[in-house]
Amino acid sequence: MGVTVRFAPSPTGQIHIGNCRPALFNWLYAKKQGGTYILRYDDTDQERSTQAFAEGIARDLEWLGIVPDRVERQSERFGLYDEAAKVLKEAGLLYACYETGEELERRRNRARALGRPPVYDRAGLKYTPEQIEKFQAEGRKPHWRFKLPNHVEGDPFSFQRTEVHWDDVIRGRQTVDLASLSDPVLIRGDGTYLYTLPSIVDDADMGVTHVIRGEDHVANTGVQIAIFEALGRPVPIFGHHNLLTTASGEGLSKRTGALSIASLRDAGYEPMAVNSLAVLTGTSHAVEPASDLEALAQMVDFTGISKSAAKFDPEDVGTLTAKITHALSYDTVKDRLEALGVGGGEAFWDIIRENCSTLADAANWWKVVTGPVEAQIEEDDQEFIAKAKELLPAEPWDETTWGVWTKAVKGETGRKGKGLFMPLRRAVTGLGHGPDLKSMLPFIGRQNTLDRLDG
Ligand code: GLU
Repeated sequence: MGVTVRFAPSPTGQIHIGNCRPALFNWLYAKKQGGTYILRYDDTDQERSTQAFAEGIARDLEWLGIVPDRVERQSERFGLYDEAAKVLKEAGLLYACYETGEELERRRNRARALGRPPVYDRAGLKYTPEQIEKFQAEGRKPHWRFKLPNHVEGDPFSFQRTEVHWDDVIRGRQTVDLASLSDPVLIRGDGTYLYTLPSIVDDADMGVTHVIRGEDHVANTGVQIAIFEALGRPVPIFGHHNLLTTASGEGLSKRTGALSIASLRDAGYEPMAVNSLAVLTGTSHAVEPASDLEALAQMVDFTGISKSAAKFDPEDVGTLTAKITHALSYDTVKDRLEALGVGGGEAFWDIIRENCSTLADAANWWKVVTGPVEAQIEEDDQEFIAKAKELLPAEPWDETTWGVWTKAVKGETGRKGKGLFMPLRRAVTGLGHGPDLKSMLPFIGRQNTLDRLDG
């Protein structure tokens, strides 16, 4: 059977660099295995999910280089979830509960005070018809819980240790004791589904072979395996990766927009910088820029993912972007340079690329060539610059012009080293740093240079 994976974001916000991690681990695995990648919008929460967020996610993935083979939306699949819920209800495994949130909170507090685990006591299974009638008369709507198989056969009130195991492709053998968990609510009082059941139905229906997701889902997996089994559906292979946190250990939140893919893209960072950082942080591989996703796929596999938190420094996106930018070949950036209005062809790109932290910097260097440039001429250097202007070589200009010119200026003024070069650089480019002037000067041209030397 071929490999099928899915990335299942809820379109309730923008995805950030932490969400890229499952998006990419699944993508790299699918590509390595020649498998299928499904983008599944977990949009059962129709109040918080929006079309705009879904479109934003698709755009972000495309920018990262991920092109799903299939796109699915849970909001179009409610019929399947209803069917599964019916099967569970008929088997007596999905039962109605009427407690309010406050009542449940009170019970949990009481259990804690008595030193007992705050696990739901299955009161919902004991309601008399009169009680149910009373709840309904009060306008209460039932929510529905799945009865976990964690009890003595035939007696749901006698909990007993029930281990669920799976061989996690990242974390190794995992064990969850179902008796330590409350029966999960699968359907809310307003009839909407929580993520748990739709995810199982879809994974089974779409033939998902590997569920690779964050380690915040480990306890869910114990529950979900029990539900897969109750529905008689094959259980996929699971893998839970560590989560990205900032250096101070803080998790990333979808709601704050911090380090969102959209903001990183708008800031001009390179997608492969984001991909490399999102994937390699918290693995046995050094965090370094991969040239493309195929190369990244070769750098890491599931066994190389560490079990502790994956701490990263957001500034590294900039460092990796600069490294990548310096190495970009003209062919790969030609169109982007053109879109930025940067001329000069390959020769110009080769001159400036080491001086570009992001590709957008190329436009600034092109402006240094074409102007307008505000020349920087210190009071003390005015005479020196006037002299240099007189000595400016005639055209045609090439890579030797700078040497010829500065030699003449040196001979005439006696200045050398920094005192010679820096005032000329500041006057001609308006900056105290930048690419080699020997190479820049022919692009700037004699007339521009003359104008700038006028201050
Ligand atoms: N929508 C869920 C989430 O974003 C998906 C988790 C999963 O991959 O099963 O957490």
